[in-house]
Amino acid sequence: MLTILTPRHGKQDVLAKGVRKITSHKIGHVEMFTRAEMLIHTGRDFGLVVQAEMTAPHLTLRDDLTRGAYAAYTAELLDKFTDTGEDEMSMLFALMDETLARIADDSDPQLAMRYFEVRLLDLVGFRPELSECVVGHEPVQPSDQFFSHAQGGVVCPQHVGRGSSPVPIPMMTLKLLRHMQRSSYQHVKALEISPSLHEDAERILLGYVSYVLERRLQSIDFIRRVRHAK
Ligand SMILES: [Zn+2]
Repeated sequence: MLTILTPRHGKQDVLAKGVRKITSHKIGHVEMFTRAEMLIHTGRDFGLVVQAEMTAPHLTLRDDLTRGAYAAYTAELLDKFTDTGEDEMSMLFALMDETLARIADDSDPQLAMRYFEVRLLDLVGFRPELSECVVGHEPVQPSDQFFSHAQGGVVCPQHVGRGSSPVPIPMMTLKLLRHMQRSSYQHVKALEISPSLHEDAERILLGYVSYVLERRLQSIDFIRRVRHAK
């Protein structure tokens, strides 16, 4: 069984047993973290992959352990934030496709991962508020602020007492995250990012992603339990 992401038919579980290998210079089998053209027969419970041709093999994701781990992380995150079904996911597909290529080939695969987190949060409806204070709604000043996971954004030092579980977010980190929200990857890549700033962006984003995910999984669990109880 494989979980695949398609642009127009959403996320699908498919059976890829005995995929017919296409004899060409391209690798003819199914691999994790690759883009492929697939011919799928719709079955009763799940699709059956009858042909597959890899169009972006991303070999470094299997040769380089770190890059492979980053790819696994992004795929897992996308999986957890989406439901299986026929919903159109062309934006998420494009993001995942670009991200895998960046993680495979770019000099800073960690930045590709951070950029993915920012974009993913946006596309699945959890864009963190970084421009105005989530308590007082006044514009955020260019200085050190706080970040509230529960309220999904920046809380200013003045209102921090009224925010829930805020963590400090230094000005530089805030600027970087805002830049990521607003700019293309090419622009973000052009920045000089120090290791400490990198670490700090990771701290904020991982913290927020984990928080949101836990809430999402809890609500999915709740929906299941309510359905079950009926
Ligand atoms: Zn405020």
